[in-house]
Amino acid sequence: MFNLDSLLRDNIRKLVPYSSARDEFKGEAQVFLDANENSLGSPLTRWYNRYPDPHQWKVKEAISRIKGVPPQHIFLGNGSDECIDLLYRAFCVPGKDNVIINPPTYGMYEVSANINDVEVRRATLLDDFQLDLVHLENLVDSNTKIIWICSPNNPTANSMNRQDIEVVLNNFSGLVVIDEAYINFSRHKSFIQELSDYPNLVVLQTMSKAWGLAGLRMGMAFASEAIIDVYNKVKPPYNISQVNQELVLKALEEVGQVNDMIRQLVAMREQLSKDLVALPLVRAVFPSDANFLLVKMENARGVYERLLEDGIVVRDRSKVELCEGCLRITVGTEKENGELLNALAKIG
Ligand SMILES: *Cc1c(COP(=O)(O)O)cnc(C)c1O
Repeated sequence: MFNLDSLLRDNIRKLVPYSSARDEFKGEAQVFLDANENSLGSPLTRWYNRYPDPHQWKVKEAISRIKGVPPQHIFLGNGSDECIDLLYRAFCVPGKDNVIINPPTYGMYEVSANINDVEVRRATLLDDFQLDLVHLENLVDSNTKIIWICSPNNPTANSMNRQDIEVVLNNFSGLVVIDEAYINFSRHKSFIQELSDYPNLVVLQTMSKAWGLAGLRMGMAFASEAIIDVYNKVKPPYNISQVNQELVLKALEEVGQVNDMIRQLVAMREQLSKDLVALPLVRAVFPSDANFLLVKMENARGVYERLLEDGIVVRDRSKVELCEGCLRITVGTEKENGELLNALAKIG
């Protein structure tokens, strides 16, 4: 029932991808006169005068060892944002195809759709922030190419029920993208090990959250080899810089340190949640599988502005459907969380 070729845009199916110098010659040599680089060097180190590995094999092998997914099932993007945008460009015909999102959710699925002139259909989450499968099914038609599922979801912080996601994976013949940006903070299992069961599955993860590398820009997509081949066909040839590849490789040696940070952040999240609930102006703190809390407040907008006066900035989600009256608060350091709690206690 799933047919990747028929999902692809005609122009992408027929596309002859750009072939870089580094693609055409992969062997050993001493003299490289094939890529019009500066042979003399650069103002930085000599290394940076050369184009980077277009397929980032060393980084993928290191990620493969940590995640237990073979390198051919991995695509690396300039942030998850690139992983999201390339799917639109490869699969969605502007002005004709559509995708489905489950709001309230991450904003880039819709912005990227708008940039690509692709229709967005909305299956708003149920009151318990879970998928509305009946609504979802009703929105699907023959031009629906992608269903975006964010789990744990931003900004509601919860994970979607696994069985619900499986229903979508088993019944939808387009791509199902599960955005697991916050999976490391969750008690739930990733879908990354299910790639062989679901040819229509794309799992997105990122180095921006648990790995603490938002400044580097490194997003990961895990999928069948066939889908990864499509990614590689449409991506800019050198989308991940040499500097980025080197630094990510170095960071990937420090899994232990990252796991420590995750444990700390999860413990601080639970403590912050308890401390917030105890405040008179807090109506509810929703359970979180992420590194942030969705907090329902008395006069959320007013609280947001009072916090700003103390130099504390949180995310005002109070006008977002199902998040009425809510602020989204990232778990900070011990000191920052203390400052937040003091500032809130001062307000009321
Ligand atoms: C933060 C976040 C990302 C990360 O995007 P990058 O471009 O990799 O920094 C992806 N998805 C969701 C839902 C997020 O909240």
